[in-house]
Amino acid sequence: MDSRTAAHVLSQISALVELQGGNRFKARAYQSAAKAILGLDSDDLTPLHRSGELQKVPGIGPATLSVLRDLIETGESRYYDQLREATPEGMLEMMRVPGLGMAKIQAIRTGLGIETLHELEEAARDGRLARLPKFGAKTAEKILKGIGFLRETVALELYPQAFGEAMRLLSGVRRHPEIVRAEIAGSVRRHREVIGDIDIVAACRSDPARVAASFARVPGVRDVTGAGAASITIRYVDGTRLDLHCVRPEEFAIAWWRATGSAGHLDDVRAHAATRGLAIVDDTLRDASGSTIGVDDEAAFFAAIGLSFIPPELREGALEVDAAHRGGLPTLVEYADIRGVLHCHSRYSDGTASIAELAEAAQRRGWSYIGISDHSESAFYAGGLSRDAVLTQHEEIDRVNETLDGFRVLKGIEADILADGRVDYDASLLERFDYVIGSIHSRFSMSGAQMTERVLAALDDPHLTILGHPTGRLLLTREPYALDLDAVIEKAGERGVALELNADPHRLDLDWRYCHAAKRRGAMIEIGPDAHSTQGLDNTRIGVGMARKGWLEARNVLNAQSADDVLAHAARRRAR
Ligand SMILES: [Zn+2]
Ligand SMILES: [Zn+2]
Repeated sequence: MDSRTAAHVLSQISALVELQGGNRFKARAYQSAAKAILGLDSDDLTPLHRSGELQKVPGIGPATLSVLRDLIETGESRYYDQLREATPEGMLEMMRVPGLGMAKIQAIRTGLGIETLHELEEAARDGRLARLPKFGAKTAEKILKGIGFLRETVALELYPQAFGEAMRLLSGVRRHPEIVRAEIAGSVRRHREVIGDIDIVAACRSDPARVAASFARVPGVRDVTGAGAASITIRYVDGTRLDLHCVRPEEFAIAWWRATGSAGHLDDVRAHAATRGLAIVDDTLRDASGSTIGVDDEAAFFAAIGLSFIPPELREGALEVDAAHRGGLPTLVEYADIRGVLHCHSRYSDGTASIAELAEAAQRRGWSYIGISDHSESAFYAGGLSRDAVLTQHEEIDRVNETLDGFRVLKGIEADILADGRVDYDASLLERFDYVIGSIHSRFSMSGAQMTERVLAALDDPHLTILGHPTGRLLLTREPYALDLDAVIEKAGERGVALELNADPHRLDLDWRYCHAAKRRGAMIEIGPDAHSTQGLDNTRIGVGMARKGWLEARNVLNAQSADDVLAHAARRRAR
């Protein structure tokens, strides 16, 4: 039994248990078991089961183990089959419509007898849904929007999930005896924030089409497009899509470049090559006479057509070819440039770690400071800090700092930007913080004009050091709020307020597409993990990938500076 199929069955069981109103903890247990299975180092569960290793895997309990035993011994799970029989397929789809909770799904099913997404869409259009008790026209409209959203995003995943999946697939490809080299390409390599499919390029010592075909025959594959060719698309049972490009070793460099994309970038490079009398034909570079110019790697390929090496993150068809031609590419910020982080929540608000634990975790990551930025008083839903709690926290930070050598905990706050643009707390309390992040956590539905006015007003407060997650977007879930972002970026640059690139993989906000504008306007970018645990500090790495997509250099990044420089930045802002 392959681990992908097993994990898929476990997570389907979890969804079905929840849908049928079963115990939530039970549903969660199946979900964590699915995660544990995917985290294993092995694709085949059968040997692990025989040796008794499987039952020792953390996250696998007696109930989940019995499902796995069934799967391994018979290829099927009786429990899963029973659950499936009792649940119409369409209801599973409904669970994925944003804003449609379990209670509403039950009400729709009992009230209208609806069991498919299509029926639901019809009922939302013809008014039946709106007439259900407690629904109304607004809810019906929201559900209709949700269905549209689901249709568009059904195959999309956030970067970290897609990256993890890509690494698992890559290690499987690399184990193939006929493959000499394999790499991740496509949007994962370009570090896009949401990913539709995974691209892998593999150099083969024998016939590429035959090697590709051998991947189509493994367990866990639902269907294959392009069978028989050297480039095929494999869809697995859990919906994962792999575009596998098998090539000859001598074609690898250009095949890797092509499979990395983007389409716009490829067009720009082809056009540039043409100006030099060169052409890219399939996976080879040809001169005017049609003979092949050998290139060993991507750097040699770019050099051969007169361009400096373009980092994959920049390959979006946004003037990078022009810049590479002029020698004007930026020296992109790297993870190693980060010297500390400023957006972290402790147990004082809604985090899970103490200040000392966060400090220790930051030190272990090689940083020299960490700023604690819990929620402010108005964010009562997130355990926002009262005035007294702020003072207690500051005493604790002082005590922790006394025990530390060469490392510093800074006193920050993530203060709510109130509806009128005021920053939470009064000036006398704001003075006590080393720096202030101002964020919007309420009243998202203001008009664009009102929201812009609100944010611009906050930028006038001299205590504000950083504007947190500037657009409020939640990837694949919530659109950014209406806001004149250009006006905000311009004023932030003028006032010396840094803009956050919130590195929570659900946010990645400021959008990388606007980082370039921020840089031009002279606004610094703070890469904030928005950590709610010590593990959450690792969001920083994803944030750096996004900053690179936004053409940022270390000198554009606030937390690539020392603690002293960060403090000086905040102080300068207050003095203005
Ligand atoms: Zn926030
Ligand atoms: Zn936060």
